[in-house]
Amino acid sequence: MRRDQPPLKLRHSRLRSDVAFTSDHDHNPLVLDDCPRCNGYRKYDVFTDPDPETGIARQIDLHGCEVCGGSGRASVQVPYFDNAAEPITVRLPANGLLRCPCCGWGFNVRDRAVWTGWRHARCGQRIRFITSDA
Ligand SMILES: [Zn+2]
Ligand SMILES: [Zn+2]
Repeated sequence: MRRDQPPLKLRHSRLRSDVAFTSDHDHNPLVLDDCPRCNGYRKYDVFTDPDPETGIARQIDLHGCEVCGGSGRASVQVPYFDNAAEPITVRLPANGLLRCPCCGWGFNVRDRAVWTGWRHARCGQRIRFITSDA
């Protein structure tokens, strides 16, 4: 299922460690998309029909996903980040703590699990720093 106009998703709280983020691809590598059946969780729940009196469905099974074979990945490649917004220029605080101008989350630019050096992991926003007083 190829999505040419994917919605902006906030699915990356931390960067995947098995993906390299470099300037070759604008810190937005192509990766295998999440499995459409299990959404990358590798397993999914099976529920009963809702109880007619309570309206509550009971979980009866949690089993490995046969669509992706338990890998959690679909077979199509999609850009890691959906955010194509123009880079935003901000002043970098001396302590490295920044509030993202896109999604508003605070993060430390020294934490490479949440910052690629060009994009914020959570929202994919490209951020350019001013480091000295102009
Ligand atoms: Zn799956
Ligand atoms: Zn952000």
